[in-house]
Amino acid sequence: KKSINVLGVRIDCINFDKAKKKCIDFLSTSSPKAVFTPNVEMIMLSQKDEKFRKILNSGDLNVPDGIGVVWASKYFGEKLYERVTGFDLMMSLMPELEEKKTKVFLLGAKPGVAEKAKENLLKQFKNLKICGVHHGYFSEEENDTVVEIINSSKADVLFVAMGMKKQEEWIYKNKKKLKCKLIMGVGGSFDVLSG
Ligand code: UDP
Repeated sequence: KKSINVLGVRIDCINFDKAKKKCIDFLSTSSPKAVFTPNVEMIMLSQKDEKFRKILNSGDLNVPDGIGVVWASKYFGEKLYERVTGFDLMMSLMPELEEKKTKVFLLGAKPGVAEKAKENLLKQFKNLKICGVHHGYFSEEENDTVVEIINSSKADVLFVAMGMKKQEEWIYKNKKKLKCKLIMGVGGSFDVLSG
């Protein structure tokens, strides 16, 4: 089985290494690909919010974030291999992104946090090309400007850390306008990285 349905949300049956490989493969496709990491909280939220459920199901890759999803999946007759968190998946991509000189943009968290996350990432991955950062507290009116900043940075990979629901909604809404290849929702990852 390629995927399972957990209360209406598609979860792809994929382990950590295969998820990582799929993300790298997305870098050589022509249209932007969205990677989501649904957890139990998101699946519960999507029960009362059909639009959010539709957004989650639009993900080009939905990996199970949270042992709860892996665990719940057993009740749906399919065993998911392991938990894949957005943070772990993002970090696992870094060596390859560094090696390939892929341009990475960090979007999200409070002003200053993404800058600090960038600094810390560069300590670990000296040649990583971080082509831009932007905080995640902008208005509807500022949205097109933010999209333009990302596109003119020529980013191939966009990590979006605006918290669950908000980040998936943003990715869904802006995916067609973005020229990136891989767009991934990574929750509170920049807060972790900036610490
Ligand atoms: N965040 C953001 N814009 C917002 C709301 C939140 O960039 O409008 C950021 C917040 O600063 C934090 C991250 O999203 O870095 C995760 O927030 P939270 O812990 O609330 O979300 P969750 O962990 O539930 O995904």
